[in-house]
Amino acid sequence: AVPDPDATGPRAGSATSVRVEAPGKVNLFLSVGAPRPDGYHPLTTVFQAVRLIETVTARRQALDARGRITLTLADPDDAVPTDERNLVVRAARLLAEATGVTEGVDLLLRKRVPVAGGMAGGSADAAATLLACNHLWGTGLGLGDLLDLAARLGADVPFPLMGATALGHGVGDRLTPLMGRGTYQWVFALSREGLSTPAVFTRFDELSATRVADAGAPAAPAEVPEALTAALRAGDAEALADCLANDLQEAALDLRPELAEVIETAERAGALRAIVSGSGPTIAALAPDSATAQRVARALSASGQCADVVRADAPVAGARVVG
Ligand code: ATP
Repeated sequence: AVPDPDATGPRAGSATSVRVEAPGKVNLFLSVGAPRPDGYHPLTTVFQAVRLIETVTARRQALDARGRITLTLADPDDAVPTDERNLVVRAARLLAEATGVTEGVDLLLRKRVPVAGGMAGGSADAAATLLACNHLWGTGLGLGDLLDLAARLGADVPFPLMGATALGHGVGDRLTPLMGRGTYQWVFALSREGLSTPAVFTRFDELSATRVADAGAPAAPAEVPEALTAALRAGDAEALADCLANDLQEAALDLRPELAEVIETAERAGALRAIVSGSGPTIAALAPDSATAQRVARALSASGQCADVVRADAPVAGARVVG
């Protein structure tokens, strides 16, 4: 945070801007149950925060700005709205309403997580915004309160506040940190066009309807296998690869059959496993080491099957103030 030497009165000594970084995520495990009456799907998931970092800078406004919340993108992108549809604007507004703040804020967002890629970039932005505005406005909420506000913005918003590796219950918003050691090497194959998360869940429901009719009662989400938590505790990438699972993969592949080829390319080039990340269409490939990750990234780039390829290690810390 940058101190404002010109500030006077009640603002004296407070920052004029606060910069926060928050990570994107990959789901190591995602088991989806049948939808509840409210339409939400109960799920069990394991999130891992990856070094694809979103940056939100919150700047104090001139006193006559009348409480406006503005958002500017460092790299303008037609797929990312800058009005009330953006989770960043909604996060700032929610915090202001919850704490009675009437002052506005100018927000600057720099994105590194692919948009609509199943890596919760928008959720990371919202988490970063809650933390940045909490500091800028001096609202002083603790992590518990920020997690509660985050859950009201979306099921994936609490996790980037926490970072590292965590178990998610409920609709993914109730978190328990998971112990682990070591660093994992991920390669992400990005698609030219995003996939809408609701569309993937709808396809999931359609595909499960047949199964439910065949098997009787609708399924509750599965528990995380002990082998997965043991692999994390041991820092064993090979054992972890065996446990990677994503119930949404079938639906994502059904909507984008060409993603199966991306998975094959990654695994042929040496990835231990490649899976659909969250609701897709990003493919996440786990490599045994950095040299193999490089080989996998090169093979994916050369295949012409993806729009871009990025490498990232994991796990990394949750949202934090960096300036
Ligand atoms: P998730 O995995 O949580 O479903 P995602 O990573 O697939 O999310 P996002 O990039 O978070 O998808 O957002 C998808 C859509 O949400 C975008 O197409 C965009 O219209 C809208 N959106 C709202 N806020 C943001 C934001 N801050 N960044 C990107 N998209 C946003």
